[in-house]
Amino acid sequence: MPSRYSFDIDSDSTGGGGANPLFGAFPNVPPLSNSNKTEEDPKKPCRACMDFKSWRKQQEKSSKQKQAGDLTQQEHNPNNCPLDKDQLGQHTWGFLHTMAAYYPDKPSPEQQKDMGTFFTLLSKFYPCDVCATDLAEQLKVRPPATNSQSSLSQWLCWLHNGVNQKLGKPQFDCSKVNERWRDGWSDGSCDY
Ligand SMILES: Cc1cc2nc3c(=O)[nH]c(=O)nc-3n(C[C@H](O)[C@H](O)[C@H](O)COP(=O)(O)OP(=O)(O)OC[C@H]3O[C@@H](n4cnc5c(N)ncnc54)[C@H](O)[C@@H]3O)c2cc1C
Repeated sequence: MPSRYSFDIDSDSTGGGGANPLFGAFPNVPPLSNSNKTEEDPKKPCRACMDFKSWRKQQEKSSKQKQAGDLTQQEHNPNNCPLDKDQLGQHTWGFLHTMAAYYPDKPSPEQQKDMGTFFTLLSKFYPCDVCATDLAEQLKVRPPATNSQSSLSQWLCWLHNGVNQKLGKPQFDCSKVNERWRDGWSDGSCDY
């Protein structure tokens, strides 16, 4: 089984790191970097740890399959192939935001504890190592707000915006999180 610890992400796929206003309460969060990761098996780059382009480059370096190098990403990356880092991220965020959207308004103490445990475990087992490490750091300095649907959704939106910031992506308006993940946009475009 390929190890998730074997990767070498291109600089354009890792996000820049640096100061992050949303992570102002997290001064010790380091910029994303993969340089200190070990390569247990360089022949098997971790697909879930990098975008498809970077993974493809790694493959070419470490295998004799270069002849397929001129195929497009679309041709190489149909829906029934293993997820790369970005696909995994999109699906995971979709799941997490939807889970938060349907979390109880008044969760029991046990539900609150379980939700906290869920995120701790996620940070231990998320297959993209750099993402998991980063998540674990965030959880230490700002644990999940599990006392209501609203607070959990807002916390998750904040968490996701922190990653967006580091990757140079636009910030999401957290006041719209329930429209995006539960109710559909107020213009009716999701009503079908
Ligand atoms: C826990 C976690 C940590 C990650 N850490 C890293 C990392 O360290 N480095 C890395 O390269 N990648 C990381 N990723 C992957 C990264 O966040 C993206 O999923 C990936 O880059 C693909 O981005 P995207 O632009 O397709 O949209 P995504 O960021 O995957 O977002 C999917 C959709 O969510 C909605 N959305 C966006 N922001 C928010 C928000 N704040 N609140 C609610 N909804 C929102 C938008 O509609 C968007 O289209 C992580 C993913 C997860 C789940």
